Amino acid sequence: MHSIEILGEPSRIPGIEEIDWFLMEYLSDWGIDLTIEHRDLSKEGVYGWCMSLHGNEFFIQIHNDLSDEDYTKTILHELYHVYQHLNNEPRCEICAHQMETILVDRFNKSL
Ligand SMILES: [Zn+2]
Repeated sequence: MHSIEILGEPSRIPGIEEIDWFLMEYLSDWGIDLTIEHRDLSKEGVYGWCMSLHGNEFFIQIHNDLSDEDYTKTILHELYHVYQHLNNEPRCEICAHQMETILVDRFNKSL
């Protein structure tokens, strides 16, 4: 079972379909404890990041003013880091960027 908590008040409510889809497709073998916070990250100059806490606990922050397209890309990218972590794969930015396109494509086809 996954435990998902979504925090923050994005200027637009982003879809959580991306999150549900990724958890079903890629993380159904694990039970993870995931917190996703939407906040203003413009000072940090990033769209999002992912931190692994202890155990299967993860914390993702996403910039709260992204276009739908950038939101989908960013959330799937960060979730892919969760996947890398759980599979004991090194955290690889190049891989995550390459996967972004593939994941966005697969996600859009699943709609
Ligand atoms: Zn990354």
